[in-house]
This record gives sequence, C-alpha cells and structure tokens, in this order.
Amino acid sequence: MGGTFDPIHLGHLVTAEQARVDLGLDEVLFIPAGQPWQKDGTTPAEHRYVMTVLATAANPAFRVSRAEIDRPGPTYTVETLRRLRARLPDAHLCFITGADAIRSILTWKDAEECLQLADFVAASRPGHDLGALEAEGFTDQVRVLDVPALAISSTDIRERFKADRSVSYLIPAEVEQYARKHGLYGTVGGLEADEPC
Ligand code: NAP
Repeated sequence: MGGTFDPIHLGHLVTAEQARVDLGLDEVLFIPAGQPWQKDGTTPAEHRYVMTVLATAANPAFRVSRAEIDRPGPTYTVETLRRLRARLPDAHLCFITGADAIRSILTWKDAEECLQLADFVAASRPGHDLGALEAEGFTDQVRVLDVPALAISSTDIRERFKADRSVSYLIPAEVEQYARKHGLYGTVGGLEADEPC
C-alpha cells in the first residue's frame, strides 16, 4: 500500500483491512513515500514512517517498509515494485493506493512496467468520480475498492491540527500524541522532544 501518509488516518487503515479481506491478501505492507516527486512541503519521511508504524503495530497482517524512505532521491513506485518482485518472485502483488493518485499514473515513471509488475487497486472515497478512471481507460487494469471511511483525508487532518480542532476518532490516538509531541502540523510540540539526549 503506497501513500504519503501525512499523516496516516483511519481511512487508510480501513482501506488496508478491506483490501486484505476482499482480495484475500496474506499481508498488507505499508510503504510511506520517501520524497514524493510531484509535491512539496511534506512532513519529514522519518516522522511519517514512525506514525505509520504506530498506527499499524497491533495488526499482525500489517507491516511497514522503509524501502522508499531509505532510498535517496525522488520516490518512484516502479523501483519499489521491481525490488518487491525480485525479493518475492512467486508472490501475487497488488499495489493499493488512492484512486486520485492512480488517475495520474500515466505521468509516473515507467507506468506500463508498473502495471505489469502488480495488480493496481484504487481506493475510492464517497463521491469520487469513477467515470474519470473509466474514461481514461483504466478500469481493465485497475480494480476499484469503494471505501466509505475514506471520507477522512490527510489534508483535512492537517487543517484540523492547524486550526486546533479535534482529530479524535479520525486518526489513531498514538498518531495524534506523536504529532503533538513533535510539533507536527502546526501543533505546539514538546519543548525538548527533538533535542539530543
Ligand atoms: P496523493 O496525491 O497525496 O493522494 C491522492 C489521493 O489518494 C488523496 O485523496 C489521498 O488521500 C489518497 N490516497 C493516497 N494514498 C492512499 C492510500 N494508501 N489509501 C487510500 N487513499 C490514499 O498521493 P500520494 O500519497 O502522493 O501517492 C500515492 C502513491 O502513489 C504513493 O505510493 C506514491 O509514491 C505513488 N506515486 C508514484 C509516482 C511515481 O512513481 N512517479 C507518482 C505519484 C504517486 P490522503 O491524502 O487522505 O491519503
């Protein structure tokens, strides 16, 4: 499961669980993007990685990969999929991410190869225009997963933090505590949280 996870929220976790059950997956590997090359100003990768670990720690079928955050340079999904394919030559790989992200797949590096290396699963939030995916000819190559809980979005969570509005029950409590401790998303932060000890 690929994403920026800035921050990870319950919509991502519900998507992962729904994909695991509906597609009969053995496990879901969360892969926080290191340097998403099509966007600026994301939270440092290490913070996004730790929040993803905190959010998924209790589920034995969920794991988190450092592959993209440890790889220098811009993050390209094709490189991640090549690496996974080499390590797991017999596995059935599904790449799960948001439907909006998949709509731009033709702009990704080696898009055709990506689609050959894994089955793509597009998680769609309520009200999402699936017609756009169809019109762009993706529906043969991409499976759509309807996820009502994806009404939650990372953008909304960041805005809530900034405006000092509640994020309870939208993100795991551990993620909220971590974000506040480190002063992420405009929160005040623990004074000495990032000081070397
Ligand atoms: P994004 O543009 O931040 O997100 C697009 C939409 O998809 C947002 O609504 C987002 O909601 C949702 N979304 C993202 N990840 C999701 C997930 N795992 N489950 C459910 N919804 C999700 O997309 P992004 O996070 O940058 O990129 C998504 C994935 O595509 C990453 O793995 C990224 O590396 C990959 N990608 C690869 C290339 C390339 O190889 N060149 C280019 C672009 C993206 P939230 O904001 O709430 O998550």
